[in-house]
Amino acid sequence: MKPRIQMIPERGECIFRCAAEQRALLDRMLYKRYPDAEWGTFFRFGYRVTPWGVLVTLVDLLPPDRGDFDEKSHVMEFTPRYIGRGLRSFDQCAFGLGFIHSHPEGCAPGPSLSDDDMDRYFAEEFEKFSGGRPYISLISSRDEEGRRRFSGRCFHQGQWLPVTKWVTLGKDLIRREYDFRKPAPRVSNGSSTERAIELFGDDGSVRLKNSTVAIIGCSGLGSPAGHILSRAGISEFILVDPGLFKDSNHERNHASRASDLEVIGLSKVELLERLIHEVNPDAKVTCIKGDILDPATVDALVRCDLILGCTDSVYARAALGDLSTHYIIPVIDMAVQMGAKDGRLTDQVGEIARYLPGLPCPWCRNRVSAAAIRAELATDEERAQANRAAAAAIERGDDGAQYWIGERPKELTVGYMTTAVAAIGAGYAQGWLTGTSEMPHDRFQFDLGRRFFGFVPDNREPEPDCSCQRCSGFADQGQTDFTVSRPF
Ligand SMILES: [Zn+2]
Ligand SMILES: [Zn+2]
Repeated sequence: MKPRIQMIPERGECIFRCAAEQRALLDRMLYKRYPDAEWGTFFRFGYRVTPWGVLVTLVDLLPPDRGDFDEKSHVMEFTPRYIGRGLRSFDQCAFGLGFIHSHPEGCAPGPSLSDDDMDRYFAEEFEKFSGGRPYISLISSRDEEGRRRFSGRCFHQGQWLPVTKWVTLGKDLIRREYDFRKPAPRVSNGSSTERAIELFGDDGSVRLKNSTVAIIGCSGLGSPAGHILSRAGISEFILVDPGLFKDSNHERNHASRASDLEVIGLSKVELLERLIHEVNPDAKVTCIKGDILDPATVDALVRCDLILGCTDSVYARAALGDLSTHYIIPVIDMAVQMGAKDGRLTDQVGEIARYLPGLPCPWCRNRVSAAAIRAELATDEERAQANRAAAAAIERGDDGAQYWIGERPKELTVGYMTTAVAAIGAGYAQGWLTGTSEMPHDRFQFDLGRRFFGFVPDNREPEPDCSCQRCSGFADQGQTDFTVSRPF
């Protein structure tokens, strides 16, 4: 007898992600012969190989045609024709090819001996034909109460990695299923989150506890957001900010103390990490004192259940849109704008938007522009060069504006506005992670100083020609479609 396939979790894990519409399609197909017999399909996926393992994102299904399986058999008997169709997809695109099948009623989702044979065969064939792309095999079944169970494994470079998490990204819930993992212990009454349990329910509290949230930008918006979410019981954070704490941040930053003033070299991420650990010493916090475009940052972000955009830079906003589209990650993006004239506040504007495949991206919403990104990412040398070109153009009598890269205006915001917007955004994050509430609009603005808070919803449709509409789940294989990339 051949040995069973052994997985080596220490070598890493695999996370599988899909959009809710794809999941509904999959479920209808997988259970079409339920409860007596199995059914399955090849699917194409984007992927990213990271130090923690492999992220796999569903692109589309390659459903079997009539005659692709022996329909009289209760298990999946492949025909060479269907396997040939799968292999041909390697020539047509850069995506990986996986297989998912259901088990009949009453059967666990664990792989059978014949599943081992099938997976070994596909892993080797696909690796050979695809030049080393990973292979993933998923099995789905239902338990006595009709709940979906699954198991999965991913073959990459000679190793089998367990699929530890299956995330289905819906508008109302970020649904996460774990492979054979024991659920986190229930939080008991009388605990620090008792009130939250009453509101969100037991399941909601467990979901919050199991969540990993990334915070991009750890000052005015990011520090109150991290503060609120750590008190809410979220147990893992990825903090991203390249910046150092400046005394002028103190008015807005919830993580800084008087003793931090005039200390040189404190990073914003370490201050927020300290605050989170003061609230919850058991929280797992990864600090990345780097940029959202750094490959190491992306490696960490694609593991998260949700990303909070707490930065006012335009290129970071564009990068958040790319991450959401390509890696099927939910993003809640926040912004604050304030203005004053003659000692009176004219604007106290807060804005919250969310990104997920199917919704308009920041480009569809006109929230970013190529010129602004170019200006932000320009090096000092490029800036000087552009301004010399602009001066030369003006001298020739041409319009110099097309060359000019000016300084970015300083964003003027104060603590009550950043805290208010961060709190609202953190609240929507909790609602999305637990499925208990939804944003009233996918983007809206309000102005504290106006009647009815000057509420303006933005319910536009995505631009049909925008790359976000065709790159869902493309992951690294769609890299040429990223709208912003690291300057070198
Ligand atoms: Zn099976
Ligand atoms: Zn778009």
